[in-house]
Amino acid sequence: MRIACDVHVHVWSAAEHVSPAFLKQANEVSGRPGCLNVEINRMDEIFEPVDKVVVFGGRAIHSGVHCPNEFVRDFVKRNPSKYIPFAGIDPTERNFMQDFEQCVGDWKFRGVKLLPMYANFDPRDRRLDPLYTACEKKGLPILFHMGTTFVRWAPLRFTEPMLLEEVAERFPDLKMIAAHLGHPWEHQTAVLIRKQPNIYSDLSALFYRPWQLFNSLMLMQEYGVTRKLLFGTDYPFTTPMETVERLRAITKFGEGTNFPRLNPDWMEEVFQRDTTRILGIV
Ligand SMILES: [Zn+2]
Repeated sequence: MRIACDVHVHVWSAAEHVSPAFLKQANEVSGRPGCLNVEINRMDEIFEPVDKVVVFGGRAIHSGVHCPNEFVRDFVKRNPSKYIPFAGIDPTERNFMQDFEQCVGDWKFRGVKLLPMYANFDPRDRRLDPLYTACEKKGLPILFHMGTTFVRWAPLRFTEPMLLEEVAERFPDLKMIAAHLGHPWEHQTAVLIRKQPNIYSDLSALFYRPWQLFNSLMLMQEYGVTRKLLFGTDYPFTTPMETVERLRAITKFGEGTNFPRLNPDWMEEVFQRDTTRILGIV
């Protein structure tokens, strides 16, 4: 079993780059202490089945996430043809464009990761225009965390997928990924990716709510947008093989009944989808 690309992987040192208050909430809600721990020394083994892996840290000062991009730069040196770095940018930081320029100019990062809800900004905020303009011009995709969270002080109003429509209207050639199907606003994601040619979504970190995910995937199938779905894990929350197994299991829901069924073929296509080519970053 090979997976062409995992578009959603975090690398950080949880102890150093994530605040104790954030870690405490993550551990309590997940019931899995240490769920944010990245096993840096086992990454090659965990991602052995995956050809290309998009990696980033995460910057959202408001919520206590502050992984320096240097950490990601140093990580990818272990295998630059496999690990593709995206810059973690927080536009509420004074020097965010300098960070961005250093990442993409000096270090050849290939895209950007934004965390609007965690960093407490609206993706439509004009502050981001220099970043959006540069990414559109340079052909760099932006992966947005979209979807709810356990973090108390991260405002949900900044994480609805529909917010990206205005960005797409102003930057029509900017490639964007609304992560996590924008749960629990998957209906917004379905209609958004159907009409906006440069917006995609990923399936990361959703399988632990299998009934909700089954319904979300049915929604994507019925809207005819499965070709816009990308494989992702959200490691360290999940791993590639666990994600594949759990997604395949969901395609078996309803077997032997008259319930509507997911077509397993398109799910296999998601595993084989060459996301780096689609995003133009190879
Ligand atoms: Zn993530």
